[in-house]
Amino acid sequence: MNKKLVALCSLFCVMFLFSGCGGNVTSLEAASREASNYEISAVLNYDEKTLQAVEKIKYNNTSNADLTELKLHLYPNAFREDVTKFKAVSETQKSRAYPNGFSEGSINVLSTKINAQNVNFIIDGDDKNILAIPFEQSLKSGGWVELEICFELEIPNCNHRFGYGDNTLNLGNWYPIACVFEDGNFVTDGYSPNGDPFYSEVANYVVNISYPSNLVLASTGELIDETTQGSTTSATYSAKAVRDFAMVFSDDFEVVKSVVGSTTIEYFYYDDENSAKNLQTAVDALNTFNTMIGVYPYNYLRVVKADFLQGGMEYPMLVYISDDVDVLSEFQNVIIHEIAHQWWYGVVGNNECEYAWIDEGLAEYSTALFYDLNPSYGKSSEDVLGSALSSYLLFCDVYREIYDEFDTSMNRNIHKFNTETEYVYLTYVKGVLMFDSIADIIGENKMQKVLKNFYNNNAFEIVKPADLIESFESVTHKKLANYIMSWLDGSVVFEELS
Ligand SMILES: [Zn+2]
Repeated sequence: MNKKLVALCSLFCVMFLFSGCGGNVTSLEAASREASNYEISAVLNYDEKTLQAVEKIKYNNTSNADLTELKLHLYPNAFREDVTKFKAVSETQKSRAYPNGFSEGSINVLSTKINAQNVNFIIDGDDKNILAIPFEQSLKSGGWVELEICFELEIPNCNHRFGYGDNTLNLGNWYPIACVFEDGNFVTDGYSPNGDPFYSEVANYVVNISYPSNLVLASTGELIDETTQGSTTSATYSAKAVRDFAMVFSDDFEVVKSVVGSTTIEYFYYDDENSAKNLQTAVDALNTFNTMIGVYPYNYLRVVKADFLQGGMEYPMLVYISDDVDVLSEFQNVIIHEIAHQWWYGVVGNNECEYAWIDEGLAEYSTALFYDLNPSYGKSSEDVLGSALSSYLLFCDVYREIYDEFDTSMNRNIHKFNTETEYVYLTYVKGVLMFDSIADIIGENKMQKVLKNFYNNNAFEIVKPADLIESFESVTHKKLANYIMSWLDGSVVFEELS
C-alpha cells in the first residue's frame, strides 16, 4: 500500500465517520437549534378525564415567506359529537372505538398571547379543527415569536389515539401543534378515520405533567425531573427534534427494559405472559434498523401496550401496540412495523395525508427485510411479500367488480380514498410491493444503500416523492423516476393470468 492510498483511505474513513454512524446525533443537535420550542405545563384530572394546560411556543419561521398568522391543528376536536367532515372515528369503527357508547372529546382554547400580550384568536376550519392566531406585525422569514395558548381537554371514553379505555388513558395528538407552512400556505388537512392524518416539523419539547401518583406514565422524551407530593406526581420530560409528543397513563402498567447502544428500550404492558419476548422483539427491531438504515438518534424508545382500536400507532420515541392484537406473531409484527416508523415518519418526515405510501410503504418494506435478518421469527421477506402480492391481486379483482373505473393511484390525499380497505391496499400493500419491485431491478445491496442514503440525507427534514427518487437515482445511477411514477400514478396494473 503506498502513502497516497493510505492518505486516501484515511480521508474516506474520516468522511465515513462524519456521514455514517455519528451523523444523526450531530444532525439532531443541528436540527434542534433551528426548531421551534414547545413548553407545555399540564394538569391531568384523572377522575373527570379532563386536562388543563398552558402551552408556550417559541416559533421559528423557517419558511421563505413573511407570515401574517400562525395556524395550528386542534386534533381533539375530531372527537366532538357534532363533527361532520374530519371525524376520527368512522361509522364502521364505532362499536370498537366506543364499547361503552359514544363519548365526546374536545379541545377548548381559552386564551392566547403573543410576546406576553393577550391577543385574539380564531377557531377556524371545518369542524373547528384549526386555531389561527393573527400577528399584528408580520413575522419575517427566519424570525422568532413567542406564543402562549391556554387550553383544556375533554378526554373521551374511546379506544383511540386520544381517549381512554379499560386499561390506559392515551394522549396522542392532544395539544395545538403548528401546521406546516409550504408553497405559500399552511397545510391544514383535518382528521381522517383512515391512516395517520398528521404532518408536522421537528420541534423541541419540555412537557411538565401533574397526574395521580398511582398511575404509571409512558411518555415521549427523557425524564428530567419528577416529584411526588401527597397523591400527585409532577414529571417533566424533554425531547429534542421530535415531530410530536405523546403520553400514555395506566395504573396497570408493568415495565421491563433493555439497552441497545445508547438507547434504553422500555416495554410498558399489562396482561402479557410474553413480556420478555415482546421486549426482545423491540430490541431486535432497534438493532436491525440501526444497522440496516442508520442509527436511531434518541436515547429512549418506549413500546406501550394500549387500548387502541387499530393495530398500532407511532409517535416519536413511543409507539402504541393495541391490546386487541392477541396472536403473538402479529403483536410482534406490529412492534416491528411501529418501530420502523421511528425512521420513516419520525426522523425522516413526510406529509402523511398526501404521501402516506412513503412512511407506510417503507415501514412495511423494512419489516419484511427484518425477517430475513432475524430467522428465529420463522418468516422470510419472501413469505411476507408473497402474501402481500396475492392479497393485493385479490383486492384488485374484487374492486374491479365493484367499480367501473378502479383507481390504483397511490399519490392521493388521505381524504380521497373511498374506503379504509382501499387506503390500506394502495398505501401499505402496494407500497411494499413497489419497493420490492424496485429492489428486484437494482438488487438488494443497492436497495439497502438507498435506504441508508435516504435516511442520512433527510434526517429531521420533510421529504416528498422527488427526494426518494433522488436517493434511488443517485445511488444506482439509473433513471428510475418514470418507473416509480408509474406505480404512484396507478399505470402499473396487476392482473393474474387467466
Ligand atoms: Zn404504519
